[in-house]
Amino acid sequence: MNIEEIESGGYRIGIPIPFPMKYVYCYLFPKNEDYVLIDVGFNYQAGREAWEEVFTYLNINPSQINTIYLTHFHPDHSGLCGWMQQKTGAKVYMHEIDMNMMERVWGENSIQTKSMKEMILDYGVPAQLSEVIIEHMEKITKHVLPLPKIEPISREVEFGEKIWDVIHTPGHSTGHICFYQKEEQILIAGDHVLDKITPNISVWPGSSQEPLHEYIDSLLKIKQFPIKVVYSAHGKLIEDLNTRIDELILHHEERLSKIENHANTKTAFEIAEVLFAHKELSPHQWRFAIAETLAHLFFLEQENRVSKAGTRPIVYQSKSSVI
Ligand SMILES: [Zn+2]
Repeated sequence: MNIEEIESGGYRIGIPIPFPMKYVYCYLFPKNEDYVLIDVGFNYQAGREAWEEVFTYLNINPSQINTIYLTHFHPDHSGLCGWMQQKTGAKVYMHEIDMNMMERVWGENSIQTKSMKEMILDYGVPAQLSEVIIEHMEKITKHVLPLPKIEPISREVEFGEKIWDVIHTPGHSTGHICFYQKEEQILIAGDHVLDKITPNISVWPGSSQEPLHEYIDSLLKIKQFPIKVVYSAHGKLIEDLNTRIDELILHHEERLSKIENHANTKTAFEIAEVLFAHKELSPHQWRFAIAETLAHLFFLEQENRVSKAGTRPIVYQSKSSVI
């Protein structure tokens, strides 16, 4: 079992996920006689079994979990939430923007896969690959159902006998939030900052169209707080947050320059092909590769460093390149 005791009587619990990061770290804190849970995991057998083991190990009756907070709507964090709500009767809270995204992406009348297909075809993805990407995307749905009943989170919450500020950190998702404890200088960061992996910053139908600007602003926002330790949702703890923030910003600056240099009457798909040429990508990875390339291209366009032309496919041209 992947479980570790942390400050304020809390636990850091690794719940398995079927993705390369292997675990999503969820946080469990006491609140009076009950418990508050932050993030839940992906709805598949190994995830559900892990929670059953955790409850037995900690001798917790599921009905003692009376509040669940979600840092953001992505399926590796939110997918098990409906299952957990049914099991515990907990109330679920998250940022209103991501609450609406959950409904948009997986609600009964969702047209998200249709919109996604339209979007990637616009940006040059070949028809056959677009089919495979969408098929794969549709398969995720069963790992997030049933959807929980959710309410918008307030600006301040209480658990582990402490008050935590809820900090809106758009970027990785538009409604992403972190939890900050002033006196202890702790940040529960979700996927806003990770120790080794660069959080994916992407453009999706219905998401912000300037996620990279927002992400960099959100990194600079948390850089202003004194923080001793960051509890992220994947990987290890981060003790030197400022260095990690600088590395993440540098990574995006380098990626922006690279994309700017390759924007030579190319589609976003062709640029992604160059960027990820060293890897054999799965349909899932292709979806993220394209959405992430778009986030950078939109940033460059907003900064007037590239221009776009045409329709289906849209092509990009760097403003600084000599033809
Ligand atoms: Zn994640």
